[in-house]
Amino acid sequence: MAIKAYILDLDGVIYLGSDVIVGAVDSVNRLWDHARVLFLTNNSTRSRDNVAARLNASGIRCTKNDVITAGYAAAAHIKKHHGFQTVYPIGEAGLIEELKAQGHTICEDADFVVVGLDRDLHYDKLRIGLQNIVDGAEFIATNTDPVLLTEHGFVPGSGAIVHALETAAGVSPLVIGKPEPPIMDIVLDILKLQADECAIVGDRLETDILAGIRCGMSTVLVLSGVETRESLEHSEIEPDYVIESISELAAIEW
Ligand SMILES: [Mg+2]
Repeated sequence: MAIKAYILDLDGVIYLGSDVIVGAVDSVNRLWDHARVLFLTNNSTRSRDNVAARLNASGIRCTKNDVITAGYAAAAHIKKHHGFQTVYPIGEAGLIEELKAQGHTICEDADFVVVGLDRDLHYDKLRIGLQNIVDGAEFIATNTDPVLLTEHGFVPGSGAIVHALETAAGVSPLVIGKPEPPIMDIVLDILKLQADECAIVGDRLETDILAGIRCGMSTVLVLSGVETRESLEHSEIEPDYVIESISELAAIEW
């Protein structure tokens, strides 16, 4: 089977903290010779421009049009289903930039509350977010990852903030990021391909691999990030292929 597009997670696949994984640059650049490549991250703190610039600085070919962040996907999802809207964001510059780029208006009295990782979170943001939801705003989460693996170890992820607001509001959010369908719908909209023509490559079973299984893509787990042979053995989520790192991707016989 010919794979027409590769959807690559970033952390644990291309990067480990601030380091580039050995062999990643050559492997990714070679994929471009015969397929489309899309970089897909649940992280909403950076804009697509910012992610592309970082990849370029590492030697990886791409533009911002080859990058989908959960922040971009949230902004695109709202536009696709509801048009231009007013949004109160709890998140960082990357999320706010993507919401504005899709034509939404950022304000404190809004019809949508969009929550991502915010390392400048304070009580007032939760208070305003809650007030909007109580008043009928739609509650959207970029992702619910509980923690983030950094070079300093685990830090609280977007999920920790989403659940604080969920507890206060008594309302569950629509979740955009992997493994939920909205971000994969945005991916397929952009690629204009069928899911079975695509392969998703990731380091987490419960986000990347589950997202791929749910939408019908081929799935490749790399062991260069979060998962180990042991965690794979104990999981009910079964990837189609398991490789040590992205540098082995070219050796897969699809
Ligand atoms: Mg990852």
